[in-house]
Amino acid sequence: MSDAPLYKNHVLMLSQSFFIKDNQAELLLHAHKYDFDIVFFTEVCEFVMAVANDEGDGLYVIDLDTLHNMQADMQDGRRTLMLGELLQRLPGDHSYVYLQSARQGGRFLLQQRLVDSHCLAYAEKPIANDVFVDKLFNLFVQKKRGDLVRMVVLGEVDGLDDAALLQERLEVVRHADAQTLHMRVKELRPDLVLVTDTEYARTDAIVRVLQKNIEADPVREITLLQRHPDTALTRRALADGFDTVLAVAEPGLLEAQLVNRANKIRINKDLIGKDRATGLLNKVGLQRKAQDLIRRAALEGRPLAFGIIDIDKFKTINDTWGHYFGDIVIKRLSLTLAPQLGEWDLLSRFGGEEFVVVFWDCTLEQGHARLDAMRQAFRAIPFEVARGDLRHFSFSGGVAAYPEHKSENELFLRADAMLYEAKQGGRNQVCTEPAGRCRVAMAH
Ligand code: GH3
Ligand code: MG
Ligand code: MG
Repeated sequence: MSDAPLYKNHVLMLSQSFFIKDNQAELLLHAHKYDFDIVFFTEVCEFVMAVANDEGDGLYVIDLDTLHNMQADMQDGRRTLMLGELLQRLPGDHSYVYLQSARQGGRFLLQQRLVDSHCLAYAEKPIANDVFVDKLFNLFVQKKRGDLVRMVVLGEVDGLDDAALLQERLEVVRHADAQTLHMRVKELRPDLVLVTDTEYARTDAIVRVLQKNIEADPVREITLLQRHPDTALTRRALADGFDTVLAVAEPGLLEAQLVNRANKIRINKDLIGKDRATGLLNKVGLQRKAQDLIRRAALEGRPLAFGIIDIDKFKTINDTWGHYFGDIVIKRLSLTLAPQLGEWDLLSRFGGEEFVVVFWDCTLEQGHARLDAMRQAFRAIPFEVARGDLRHFSFSGGVAAYPEHKSENELFLRADAMLYEAKQGGRNQVCTEPAGRCRVAMAH
């Protein structure tokens, strides 16, 4: 089996209270659905050691009820550990998530002390396990470096530092002509469009032309950069369809605002476009990216191979060894597929046990070979379903290619038809057109 850890992220958690402890198993189950694991600690010293030794990519959670149940393990050993002592013992180069009771939350001085003590976030108990796990997941998303956010700027903006913004994962594309802005936006599909007040004053139809296009991304933000206070202009801009108006006189301030906006946009895109259990693109995320990739393939004249994967007899796996085990099989498959991707390839968990891959600059033939290599890699994984009982599972796949099929939808339908052929042909194989050209499984 591959050495990659089963879950992408991890939480180290100090908790002694009955409230959480009784729910450890349930908490873990939820966490696994969000692609992270939780290691529980009951002793401060062990927790502190684990945090200090951690690479820094985890989250560190402290249930403050620990204080009620814990004796300071010092020489005068029997007294209750004080909050200050606990906070002092935590390694200062990390930040923490504090779980406090409603009673604690009502005391503002205490809360102030917490948020000032290397606090990443605090949560108030009682909080349902699934809600808490969901919030922790959001923190992981926020910690991540994340994808590039793209902004198209219309007009002259003094002193905007493109290189500094790129460092913050915000790519700036400048466009000079209001009359062709909508075409540029259609081509580049930016997340943000920034229009200066000068350009808006000159061509006030700009924003309507951008917004009214039926293909326009409704999530895209169109922002007016207003350099001189003018209430009437602000009112008109908002009525015209600008999402926000940034009133900024200094370039440094503008950059800071744009970076904040880009971070929010990135987090939203991640939450909407990714599957939580595997961290892969979900259906929404795939559709977005696949359309971009097809557009790029058309521009550069490259082929694409589009593959669909569906685990064989997955219902039986669930029914025989349980849903939880089924989840692990899905996880392992995603971990097997991910390392086989090139920089521009896409991988998505499209639905339950179905995955989609898009290979960049890849013909149908090559796509078939690559998907089949993935099939063999998955087939080779031994799963220990019970002590000493090793099983192998398989998937079937279908491949279609661009430019033979032009749209994402057409590619999907063709690949799905080929997947059907693979299932009909006995499973554990990959099919491409013309139908019947399947690579049949080796005996196992
Ligand atoms: P086939 O070889 O024809 O694909 O057979 P199959 O049993 O895999 O096909 P089917 O699509 O009927 O079954 C898929 C099952 O996957 C049904 C559903 O209960 C299960 N499933 C969907 N999502 C998940 C998930 O996230 N976790 C687990 N454990 N099971 C899931
Ligand atoms: Mg299926
Ligand atoms: Mg299946």
